[in-house]
Amino acid sequence: MNSQHRIPPGTLDTLKVSRHDRDLVGLTYVYPVLSRRAGGVSIGINLNPNNACNWHCVYCQVPDLVRGKAPRIDLALLEHELSGFLADLIHGDWMARFVPEGARVIRDLAFSGNGEPTSAEAFADAVALLLGIRDAFGLAAESVPVRLITNGSLMAQARVQEGVRRLGEGGGEVWFKVDAGTAAGIERINGVTLDPDTVARNLARCAELCPTWVQTCMFSWDGEAPTEADIDAYLGVLERAGIERLAGVLLYGVARPSRQPEAARISRLSAAELESIAARIRQKGLTVRVSP
Ligand code: SF4
Repeated sequence: MNSQHRIPPGTLDTLKVSRHDRDLVGLTYVYPVLSRRAGGVSIGINLNPNNACNWHCVYCQVPDLVRGKAPRIDLALLEHELSGFLADLIHGDWMARFVPEGARVIRDLAFSGNGEPTSAEAFADAVALLLGIRDAFGLAAESVPVRLITNGSLMAQARVQEGVRRLGEGGGEVWFKVDAGTAAGIERINGVTLDPDTVARNLARCAELCPTWVQTCMFSWDGEAPTEADIDAYLGVLERAGIERLAGVLLYGVARPSRQPEAARISRLSAAELESIAARIRQKGLTVRVSP
């Protein structure tokens, strides 16, 4: 996710909390992230404590990333951890102790772990659980949405669609990863063999079930920025999915170092280069938010 899949690069800083603090040590599924840009706390839900993902993105910030799927999820433990942590945040002094003034607000609950969250068999149940806990704490869907940060590759599965449908009904949203529009680009960047038409179909399916933002990371590879043909192919995927179905594009650079062996081959685009890609996406009628 982080940028993983888990953390949009450059926008979020994991809270610095001493390891002996009882509030956070030992939690399996729940982790807080301070978003300085959004000015609040994002509550991350990590369904991949085994650092396993079915992709291998070159910019991934998950340490010790391995191929695989999420383990069996202990939903009772997830409920216990999330309810306990929310109680500390809302009724306790956790915010006052760890979060700077002006940022003491909960921004979202986000499935954004160390791997692909929809690979958890219990994903749909986990969505229902999060929505129920959020509602039980009186947090409104508009102010504290539940977000899914996903590579979207399992969207053809009925159990994943069920989870995304529940998310949509609960006022949530999806951030769906699309970094390239050719099979070669997807293989190089995401480490997976995948037909771009399949990506477009999965994106369309997802957007039908829940408001969906495309999450895109662009960077130089061996010093070469994405070519015009690369951008055209990428835009082609969004067009085949249906521009009108999409909420917009979250366009990221690589603000944080990759934890993968390919790290040395990738480098940041300038703000101007990213802006010029954003302008091309906007020409298609999409809203674009850029995080260099
Ligand atoms: S899809 Fe998997 S490999 Fe890619 S950034 Fe997300 S967690 Fe990392």
